[in-house]
Formats: sequence, C-alpha cells, structure tokens
Amino acid sequence: MTPVQDCLQCGKCCEKWGWGQKGVIEDLIPWILANRQDILEHVLIRFADGKRCTGRDLSKEDLFHIVRIDYWTDPNGRTLSYCPFFRRAEDGKVYCKIHDTKPKVCIGFTPWNEGIRDYALNCPACRNNTP
Ligand code: SF4
Ligand code: SF4
Repeated sequence: MTPVQDCLQCGKCCEKWGWGQKGVIEDLIPWILANRQDILEHVLIRFADGKRCTGRDLSKEDLFHIVRIDYWTDPNGRTLSYCPFFRRAEDGKVYCKIHDTKPKVCIGFTPWNEGIRDYALNCPACRNNTP
C-alpha cells in the first residue's frame, strides 16, 4: 500500500531535525544553475584538501572535490542550530521558504512512515499521535 502523506505543517520536524543534516551533490546542482546564492550561502562545503567554505560562488568544477556537505551555516561559515528557511505563518502553519527546491534529506523525510523511529513519536501526522 502506498503511504499517504498527512503532514499538518506543525513544524516540529524542521525545528528538531531540519539542521545538522548532511547534503548531497545532487542538491547543489540546481542551486548553482539557478544562482541561488540565498541558499548556497547557508551550505557548508568541505573539500578533499581540507579546505572549507560556504556554497557561495561554488562552480560546477568544484563539485568533483567535495567530500562533505552540511546544512546549515550562516554566511560566515558558522554552524546554525536552526533552519534559515523555516517560516511560521500567521495561520500557525510552517512553510518552507525553499519548498520547490529543498534538499533531498527534507524531501525524503516522512515520519508517518517511521513508526518505530524516535522522530515519528513526535509527529502529529503519525498514527496515535495528537497535534
Ligand atoms: S512533525 Fe509531522 S505533521 Fe509536523 S511538520 Fe513534520 S511531518 Fe508534518
Ligand atoms: S529546508 Fe524546508 S523542509 Fe528542510 S528543514 Fe528547512 S524548512 Fe524544513
């Protein structure tokens, strides 16, 4: 049976797990092509030679030398303990400011499919949980 998404946009998952996550090269490519410096400046990049920087001004050639990608950082490379794209609207719901191009780790996050995982226990969209 195909699991049905029933996210209530409470924001709990993004608040708790929306930072300190690892990224993948596939996330970076559309951001570079679209010149999304607003996103890339919040990405911490580590290279094979030990250097590190934010994703600003990253070229496609640099992609071959990346060994690690971390979400999220401030524009000076300091690690953030929140997601800079998290927005709670007046209706009380949380909206992702980069929803159309958010990282794979966010797209693949479906706590309602993870009944035995700790994060599922706090998701009101999961069976037996209350908002
Ligand atoms: S905790 Fe569950 S209901 Fe709340 S935003 Fe995350 S997936 Fe949606
Ligand atoms: S990028 Fe969007 S989906 Fe991912 S943690 Fe931030 S607000 Fe949540």
